[in-house]
Amino acid sequence: MHKYVIMGMPGCGKGTQSEIMCKRFDLVHISVGDILRWNIKNHTKLAARIKRLMATGRLIPDEYVENLIEQRLADHDWNYGFMLDGFPRNEAQAEYFLERYDIDAVLNIDVPAELIIKRLTARRVCANCGAVYNLDSHPPKIEGVCDACGKKELILRPDDNESAIRERLEDYQDKTLPAINLFRKKELVITVRGDRPIDEVQADIQRDLNLAKYRIKS
Ligand SMILES: [Zn+2]
Repeated sequence: MHKYVIMGMPGCGKGTQSEIMCKRFDLVHISVGDILRWNIKNHTKLAARIKRLMATGRLIPDEYVENLIEQRLADHDWNYGFMLDGFPRNEAQAEYFLERYDIDAVLNIDVPAELIIKRLTARRVCANCGAVYNLDSHPPKIEGVCDACGKKELILRPDDNESAIRERLEDYQDKTLPAINLFRKKELVITVRGDRPIDEVQADIQRDLNLAKYRIKS
């Protein structure tokens, strides 16, 4: 059983690395972003509540996200473990999490801010299915067309412009770094340099987590 949290600034590649890890080691990828998008797509009560909050300019309160994670982990569909992505986002959420769950490690993917900005402004998202591309490192096979669903709806998200990205990075420094520091005090944090090719980052992760011997899928 492997229970991990993956952290890093937006655009650090944690979604990609999570996907590889989950396939290879049969972990369940628990992504807060995916859960929220699913709720919005399916017009759930939760989505309605979140939309109301956001319309008034307020942040999603910690307890919403905490409940969401608690419910998701209570499904117990993670026989071999999980990779939690997008939570915790701040120190209070990290405290909440540590009180309730044992985890094996917190993977921290470290990428310089300037590279993050370069990466995110090259990012395109499929408006239909949510698949994510990067015009530099991971372009779609046919220009402008989503590999996954075939729709021609690849867009630059409005919040992927440079000033919005800088704001998100500052937000990360202010709120999420203290969460990482809390995990660091518990000696849970493994930091991997993320400014390299995907395979190399993945190899470091597996080495640092001592996972080579557990390899069950190729
Ligand atoms: Zn698509």
